Order: sequence, then C-alpha cells, then structure tokens
Amino acid sequence: DALPLDEVDGNVIHTVKRSVFSESQPSPLKEPLTLAAVSQDVLRNILDLNESVIQNEEFVRCVSGGKLFPGSVPLAHRYGGHQFGYWAGQLGDGRAHLLGEYTNRKGERWEVQLKGSGKTPYSRSGDGRAVIRSSVREFLCSEAMHFLGVPTSRALSLVVSEEPVWRDPFYNGSVIKERGAVVLRLAKSWFRIGSLEILTRTGELDVLRTLLDFVIKEHFKSIATNDPDKYVVFFSRVLNETAHLIAHWMSVGFAHGVCNTDNFSLLSITFDYGPFGFMESYDPNFVPNTSDDEGRYSIGAQANVGLFNLQKLLEALKPLLTSDQLSQSQQILREYPQIYHQRFHELFKAKLGFLGNEEKDSYVIAFLLKLMEDTGADFTMTFRQLSEVTLSRLQKGSFAPSLWALSDLSSHKHFRDWVQLYLQRLSRIMSDSDEERQHRMQGVNPRYVLRNWMAESAIRKAEKNDYSEVTLLQKTLMEPFMEQEEAERAGYASKPPSWAQQLRVSCSS
Ligand code: AMP
Ligand code: MG
Ligand code: MG
Repeated sequence: DALPLDEVDGNVIHTVKRSVFSESQPSPLKEPLTLAAVSQDVLRNILDLNESVIQNEEFVRCVSGGKLFPGSVPLAHRYGGHQFGYWAGQLGDGRAHLLGEYTNRKGERWEVQLKGSGKTPYSRSGDGRAVIRSSVREFLCSEAMHFLGVPTSRALSLVVSEEPVWRDPFYNGSVIKERGAVVLRLAKSWFRIGSLEILTRTGELDVLRTLLDFVIKEHFKSIATNDPDKYVVFFSRVLNETAHLIAHWMSVGFAHGVCNTDNFSLLSITFDYGPFGFMESYDPNFVPNTSDDEGRYSIGAQANVGLFNLQKLLEALKPLLTSDQLSQSQQILREYPQIYHQRFHELFKAKLGFLGNEEKDSYVIAFLLKLMEDTGADFTMTFRQLSEVTLSRLQKGSFAPSLWALSDLSSHKHFRDWVQLYLQRLSRIMSDSDEERQHRMQGVNPRYVLRNWMAESAIRKAEKNDYSEVTLLQKTLMEPFMEQEEAERAGYASKPPSWAQQLRVSCSS
C-alpha cells in the first residue's frame, strides 16, 4: 500500500530509514521437518482450508519458510520500542517474516507471519531462530487464549526441525544445543505501539502519518478518514481496548511477562508470547519471567504498565496533533484508570456469578482476593470450584479433596465471614437457582489454563519427538470451560505437582 520498502541484504546491523518494512527471505530449516501441531480451527475457520491439506507434503514447507506461497513478498517489519521502561531504539522483526495477507470467506483480512524463520535486517546479534520450547508455548498459549475469549494472535502450525540452535536458557553461561521450530501465526494486524514510536523518534513524520492513516483505514473502519480529530479518536479507542485487554488478562490470571511497547498491539490483542505465565497461587507480585529481576512486569503491575505504554503511544502521536487535540488526548489518558477498573469490576462480578449492581460488590471481590492472597489459594481453581460447589456445601464449609482450592481458602479465619456476604449477595438475585448460578459461573471460570508445568511436561516430550501431550493440551484448551476426562486423568485440574514450583521461565527463546 505505497509504503516505501527498504532493501537490505545480509544480516548486517543496520539502521533502516524511511521504511515500515524491509523485504527479507525466510531461511528454510534443516530437514527432516515434523508438523508437530496444527490448529484445525485456524485451518478451517480462518484460512478456509480443508483438513486434507496437511497431508500434502508441501504443506510443512509452506508453513515453515521452505516454500513461498505464489506471489508472496516476505517482509520484516521495522519497529522500535520501550523495553523495561527505556527507549531501546530500532528493534523490528528479528526472526519473523510477514508472508502476506489473506482475506477469508467471511471477509476477514488476516496477516500471515512466520516466527523463527531466519535472520532479517532487524536480527541484530540474534540468529533469527526460535527453539522448540518457546514455539510450543507460543502455539499452545495463543490458541488457548482465543478459546478463553481473550483477544489474541492465533497460531496455525508448529513445525519442528533438525536445525541446531544454541541457547543459554537460564543465562548462567551454560549454552546448550536445542532445535529450531517455526510457528505460523496470524493476526488482523501485527502493528504495535513501537511501530509508530520509531517513526516519531527519527522524525519521519510523513511516514508516520502514512502508516497511521493506513492502520485507521484498515482496522478502525468506523473512524471517518476525513475526521479532523481522527488521531484523537484512534488514541481513545486504543486506550479503551488496551484497558479492557489487561482487565481480561487479570480475570484469567494471565501475566504477559514482557509488556514492552514493542509487544503491545495497536489492535489491543495479546501477542508475542514469551515468558508469560498463568498465576497459580494468588499473588499480585507474581512475576512469570525469571529474567525480570525487579518485577516490573508482575501480574499486578500490568494495569499501570498499560498506562505507561499508552503514554508512549501518545508521545508518538504528538507531532500529528494540534495543541487542543493533545490536551484532549491527555484528558483521555486520565480516564484510563476508571475504564480499567470498571472492566475489571464487571469481569470479576461475572466470575462470582453476580447479576445487577450492588454497592458492596467491589468489597466482596476485594475481600475474596485478600483471602486468596493470604492463603495462597489457586487463582483459577478457586473461582472454578466456587462455580461447581453447591451453595449449601459452601455454607457448611467442609470440602471434599476434589475441592482442594476451596479447602485451602477455607483455612482463613475470615473465610466464613466472606461466605456469609457472598451468600447474602446471591440470595438477593431474583428468581435465580443454584444450577443457573453454577452454569453462569462455569461459562466464565475456566477449569483448565496452560499452567507452566503443563507446558513444560509437553515440551519435555516434544523435545524427544513425542507430540502427544502438545495434542492433548491443544484439545483440552479448546474447551477450557468443559470438564474433560482425559484432561482430568492428566491432572490438569488437580493441585499442581510439587516440581511445578521449581520451574523457571526466562526470556531465552
Ligand atoms: P521480544 O522480547 O521477544 O519481544 O524480542 C525483542 C526483539 O528481539 C525483537 O526485535 C525480536 O525480533 C528480537 N529477537 C528475539 N530473539 C531473536 C533471535 N533469536 N534472533 C533475532 N532477533 C531476535
Ligand atoms: Mg516482541
Ligand atoms: Mg518474543
């Protein structure tokens, strides 16, 4: 779309100017290649493809960078970003290639990207590759988030190769040989806050305007292209959706792990799955990334980090705004906490099965979270078991071993006080049966999330070419709200095994 292309060869560290993309060819991975996983939902419902296509021997090459789709001009995107609070300069797709876009039968336009497909002009000192463990995590989690109802990038496939890839997983000097993998991932757009920031920082304001107009035209169709305030409206939309997204993350206990501005989507979808984690024991200071020493991206910090990132977005937009529009936008920024809290409140009310509004609702929610924090009760299963327990059982307060999370919670000296408040609140809902309440709550409180230990268990097998647990997790997490026999047998709804506590996830990927 008339965006200038910059042609750069080789893998030199290169400051690219006046470009949004650089042409860059994927580097095929060493064969044999294994198609370790495919999302049937993406295949069918996004790409309009039939299941039989995966039998085609060309398929695995097409989804791993070995063969290009006809007419594809692979691109690496130039972006910058604030990493851990500081401007990091030019970053860009260092190991991803945008293959093209696909408009499906439903008229949805999707951008198709490979990750782990080799060096680009933005690789800096990186090798352009991704290893099995990080690729399994990205593949499983992006699909899992979709089925949890959280806006996210998607993943079609996971291809594992014999390509040796050297990594130091814990940054302790012991480099090990791993294997390269490629995920084919999709999003309506891969543009991020950092896509705009780099252009403002380098003073490429004409390119900034071109890119922003393109994003608004393509993805914010309800904003009129001739609206003189379109950038303010755009900012306000991104702010709203980002607040909603982070509230949604909190409602499923998801910590992204690396909330840098280059990982924050302009469409407010979750993307760039690295050292993310689902919180187990409730703890607002939960930090999934063991490389994040200061806990900058702890789960409880995400809402504030969102605000920081939106401030950076506004700084990027600033040269295109009149002083009036700038002060309007600053006013919008001040509304962020209120928008976030409102959404958080609604989501947690639904998690507790509340209908209507009562003044004390925030208190009942906060009270429960405090009990969970004090007792270290499991976040996912506390809400799930509240959805499954009968109210009479809850009132009695003695729980069978299957209700292990409630059992942990009930050790708190104020547990009964909270239960009384909760029961009273529910009893004021007109013509509500206990079955209806359970049904409502089970639809929003998952029984299964991708806990680290579950991903780790699947990864250990995958590294030995056994993809059975990747498949089981994929299947389980497609219906996270439905109790499933095989998942139960695998212990996915049980108290996490003791070895789970020793697990560490770093940025190495
Ligand atoms: P992330 O923390 O995953 O968002 O990555 C930050 C930046 O590092 C992005 O520009 C990535 O493309 C780049 N990067 C990460 N790993 C590699 C790699 N193995 N090779 C090249 N670039 C990489
Ligand atoms: Mg990134
Ligand atoms: Mg990453």
